[in-house]
Amino acid sequence: MSTFDSGPDLATAAPRGDFPLLAAHPELHYLDSAATSQKPQAVLDAMDHYYRNDNANPHRGAYRLSVAATDRYRESRARVARFLGLRDADALIFTRGTTEGLNLVASSWGRAHVGAGDEIVVTAMGHHADFIPWQQLALEKGARFRIVELTPDGRVDVDHLASMLGPRTKVVAIPHVSNALGTVNPVRELAALVRERSDAIVVCDGAQGAPHLPVDFDRLGVDFYAFSGHKLLGPMGIGALVGRRALLEAMSPYQFGGDMIEWVHDERSTWNVLPHKFEAGTPNVAGAVGLAAAVEYLDCIGIDRVLGHERALVRLATARLADVEGVTVHGPAPEQRSGVVSFSLADVHPHDLATILDERDVCVRAGHHCAQPLMRRLGVPATTRASFYVYSDASDVDALVEGVQAARRLFA
Ligand code: PLP
Repeated sequence: MSTFDSGPDLATAAPRGDFPLLAAHPELHYLDSAATSQKPQAVLDAMDHYYRNDNANPHRGAYRLSVAATDRYRESRARVARFLGLRDADALIFTRGTTEGLNLVASSWGRAHVGAGDEIVVTAMGHHADFIPWQQLALEKGARFRIVELTPDGRVDVDHLASMLGPRTKVVAIPHVSNALGTVNPVRELAALVRERSDAIVVCDGAQGAPHLPVDFDRLGVDFYAFSGHKLLGPMGIGALVGRRALLEAMSPYQFGGDMIEWVHDERSTWNVLPHKFEAGTPNVAGAVGLAAAVEYLDCIGIDRVLGHERALVRLATARLADVEGVTVHGPAPEQRSGVVSFSLADVHPHDLATILDERDVCVRAGHHCAQPLMRRLGVPATTRASFYVYSDASDVDALVEGVQAARRLFA
């Protein structure tokens, strides 16, 4: 019997009954929250209420319904900004998600400020959305694309990062948390190091940070922070990019169209103020409303409690998986992770393992997790990843470990 088999943190941090999909499928062990989270009733209700009562195209109408839609959109922005400790809500740009936020920065800031011979620094653990936009920018501009290597236990090699920084460094892209390993990066310290040694901007991929860790943008010391709503109990198709106002104001729009203009003359156009300059076209108001409801729900639980709960499950899962013959758990100690456990089982292909687990109603992700550079460094084509969230509990870990044991017996 494991010493981790008891304790309040191993019970769910939020009732499963709050999540209609999980309530309808009590047999399901949903361990793929790093890919997308399940949605609480409160989020579904908020979006439903918006469409039933307040739906109109915002910003465009003088009639009361359009004003109501505009108000809901503005209130949602303020609520999400508060979740991130952001005093200046207009420095929060609604996007489709992390991918769009990071591409926005690479395209707008990057094209204007990175030139031939400059350097862009990324990490070997970056998700493709946190890697390719910078790689492509470097190729386009003739800049040098540099990759910070990892320690053997899957953390950013700080000495390697320090050795790369200098007068030519223009961008440093850091994930808050690795989606493939769960490593929590000390972003504040890394950002301070970058500032000490260069004039580079620090762009943080918060896709796996904001759902699991307290984020105080103003204290984090980064210039941009991007995340996705669907990974933090909100709907798909909405996320946000937060940036320093001075940088955002100096940047050119990413897309052109309605809402983002001040005046359109025959020969040229001028741009609306923040945040509208970066939100061309009809916005996803219902998505923003759902995202605001999601952060409200998370705040009610308390984000510190969310992290404590995930770490307790990760401690239990890593300890029990390590006891299964042939299992290698990738990544750092549980104290340096959020709710992700990535592992390999001898020479069983992760897809085969995930299929066997699925037969036992255990949903895990198998693959490269959009982190092929990391997989190359781990020396594996893919891993199996279990990821926990507020509705996970010790029974999910039991089902996972029993499934892995069954797979081992089958392939032995
Ligand atoms: N960055 C990380 C670390 C992620 O885990 C993900 C999604 O898995 C992304 C970026 C991209 O997020 P999205 O697909 O929501 O834009």
